[in-house]
Amino acid sequence: MSGFPSFDYRNGRLYGESVQLDRIAREFGTPCYVYSRAALVAAYREFDAAFGGRDHLVCYAVKANSNLAILNLLARLGSGFDIVSGGELQRVLKAGGDPQKVVFSGVGKQPDEMRAALAAGIFCFNVESEAELAVLDRVAGELNKIAPVSLRVNPDVDAKTHPYISTGLKENKFGVPFEEAEKLYASAREFANLRISGLDCHIGSQLTKLGPFVEACGKILGLLIRLETLGFTIDHLDLGGGLGIRYLGENPPAAKDYVTALCAAIGPRNQRILIEPGRALVGNAGVLLTRVEYLKHTPHRDFAIVDAAMNDLMRPALYDAYHEILPVIANGGDEKIYQIVGPVCETGDFLGHDRKLALSQGDLLAIMSAGAYGMSMSSNYNTRPRAAEVMVDGDHVHLIRQRESLEQLLAGEKMLP
Ligand SMILES: *Cc1c(COP(=O)(O)O)cnc(C)c1O
Repeated sequence: MSGFPSFDYRNGRLYGESVQLDRIAREFGTPCYVYSRAALVAAYREFDAAFGGRDHLVCYAVKANSNLAILNLLARLGSGFDIVSGGELQRVLKAGGDPQKVVFSGVGKQPDEMRAALAAGIFCFNVESEAELAVLDRVAGELNKIAPVSLRVNPDVDAKTHPYISTGLKENKFGVPFEEAEKLYASAREFANLRISGLDCHIGSQLTKLGPFVEACGKILGLLIRLETLGFTIDHLDLGGGLGIRYLGENPPAAKDYVTALCAAIGPRNQRILIEPGRALVGNAGVLLTRVEYLKHTPHRDFAIVDAAMNDLMRPALYDAYHEILPVIANGGDEKIYQIVGPVCETGDFLGHDRKLALSQGDLLAIMSAGAYGMSMSSNYNTRPRAAEVMVDGDHVHLIRQRESLEQLLAGEKMLP
């Protein structure tokens, strides 16, 4: 048993749904991201169904994994999207996403990006500063449009997660300070080309307890009531994303329990509720397949040098994140404690420390829970072309992004005359 429902062993071989992962490696090469359609669909449906009859919108956070096939699959299920750039907007539109279900987050939206979003007719801008209100008003005015606006408030709650992915503390760059929110709503009301429509927060990522979410909801609800008393019409509450997944021993709440807790904390109100899950939708729907290139034994340590590296999956190097690493074919040989490292010239280029595995040169490994913030954070460091991506669907495999070629990688560069 792997512990990952869509990627499990049959007769000692690891499968993605009904496809042997070693077959995928032979056909598409390594490193290769493999996603499970069934896992994605099940994760989306669990969030969506948990709302019952309540007016809601699940806005998938595109930055977690922005492959067009994944966006298209979610769009077909009715999903909305949380974007943080004009590039992500373009992806959503190309994938068939409904612009009326798009919210635009981020602290540094540029006028061009605002123009594109206004032209597409998105559902709401989640504005993060007073300066941004003024720019959005000007851009909307130039286009003769009214921009729908939420303010992203920073509720100052401790998400108790890694400091790099904690966003809801008052020292973080995100959102407007909670104490200033009413004043900023009042100034937003003065802009001719803005229409106040919602209230937004997002406190961090990979949260494994409900407490901080419920605490943030309580603060948001209090603010909502004060805003209504002041005469503002708020038609939706956007409660952000951040639900964690199991990488190792974590035991995060189920999506259903998370949604139920949010709804209970808000109580019976008629505002539409939005959530912006990213990791919880795609994280455990993907693995990174890699091959052992060399085994290197030194007096101090045993290294397995694999063909995936920090440029393909940055989370271990960036956050010291843990990903389970499983053999694709369990070979039953002698186990050793390995450092699983990539070929990149950085000591931080590791995928796992101290993993007990029986390995031979040429073996395949699956780096688990790699569906979120894997491919989307990948780079070309060391001039390494980016990995291929495939999606399994029952016993079918679809290539959803071809492996980048060196020609593509170098295409934009020019020498001096
Ligand atoms: C990153 C982000 C999300 C998604 O976070 P997950 O932890 O992947 O669910 C949602 N909303 C905003 C504003 C974000 O920045």
